[in-house]
Amino acid sequence: MTLQRPQRVPPYASFHAFRKPPSIVESVLGPSATSVDDGWAPFNGDKGTQRLCELDLAFLSSYAIGMYFVGHLGDRIDLRYFLVFVYWMALCCLCCWELCGKECGLIMGVWNSHTSVGNIVGSVIASSVLDFGWGLSFALPGVVVIVSGLLVFCCLVVTPNDLGFEEPGKEIEMGLAENVEESLRKTETENAELLQTGWTLPPPRSEKQLNLQVFITTLIPSTSSDKTVWLVDEVIQDSFSSRQVWECIREKKPMVPWVNLIWHKARVPRHAFSAWLFVLNRNPTLDRLSRWDCDIEKTCLLCGVADESRDHLFFSCPFSRQVWDETLMRLGFQSPPYLWDAVLQWMPMASSCTDKSLALLQAWQACIYEIWHERNRRFHLGVTFPARKIIRLVFSVVHDRALSLSLQNPGRESLLLCWC
Ligand SMILES: [Zn+2]
Repeated sequence: MTLQRPQRVPPYASFHAFRKPPSIVESVLGPSATSVDDGWAPFNGDKGTQRLCELDLAFLSSYAIGMYFVGHLGDRIDLRYFLVFVYWMALCCLCCWELCGKECGLIMGVWNSHTSVGNIVGSVIASSVLDFGWGLSFALPGVVVIVSGLLVFCCLVVTPNDLGFEEPGKEIEMGLAENVEESLRKTETENAELLQTGWTLPPPRSEKQLNLQVFITTLIPSTSSDKTVWLVDEVIQDSFSSRQVWECIREKKPMVPWVNLIWHKARVPRHAFSAWLFVLNRNPTLDRLSRWDCDIEKTCLLCGVADESRDHLFFSCPFSRQVWDETLMRLGFQSPPYLWDAVLQWMPMASSCTDKSLALLQAWQACIYEIWHERNRRFHLGVTFPARKIIRLVFSVVHDRALSLSLQNPGRESLLLCWC
């Protein structure tokens, strides 16, 4: 839509009216004036004609120079405010903008009348009050200019957006983007859906999405503001807890009897994880690997006598047994069991002292970890550590863990004392 702005013509005409007084007033300023007095100094002297020429020169020069600078100014500030001070150039800018419109022929026709209308009005006004003093010939057109400027300031529509219309360019883009009828039909369909279900949903792209939308449309939207909440087991939660969600969605099974042997509070995480895999017998011991590859050598890398298996490594193997024996001896346990199942059954009842029981579990997990580490070192790197060094590694790591716990809980150094 193109906006017509006939309100620009009156102020432009009033401007032209304001240009007329100089030529009218000149007739009473000069020495050959026919008015009641002898003219006005210095225009009534010997060089009166020269002064009048200088007056014309000054007027036309300031007009030409002002046009150049004010045009740039009009492009850079709000036209409404600009108009209050120098609205002549503002009108030019607006008319240039309007030339882009479709109905510029009509607009330009009306607009071009300003020159003649302005000249006529200016001549009539200036000459009609000339007998009351030439100052009035300037003042009255000036009042007309001011009134016109105020009218334009109050009524001018600077851009189509001021009336809620789209810019012409955008309108064209929209017209090209989609068919108008299709757009209307789409809007009607959406409105119908909105009225029916209260939801505006995009077309589903899959069966799952369709089912989801069918479910959503069974819900009636509330009129209050929406907010996101976590619902776990039909209970609204104040905050999100990954533990709570995992407990809700995971498959629950009975607690295994060895849970406290692995996940006790004094555990070293990497030791506990390794022991957990061995309890489940999921580590790649040679007996398990040989089930996939019959040609693999199954002989234990630690003793070179028996075949390697979980039960052999912990602690039927002479190498492992030495590590296990000497570690437990430090804790005061004599003649511990060496068979895997027997060890699992023995540990929970090995001591009535809580800290000593924890130290035993630490020792068991550390022995498993370091012995398996030594086995891998020999298997992958061909490097061999003696049992004494493995025992030192066990002590070092477990002692550090006990020290760390005692620092976290001052006054509870009994676990640390087990390893000193
Ligand atoms: Zn062995």
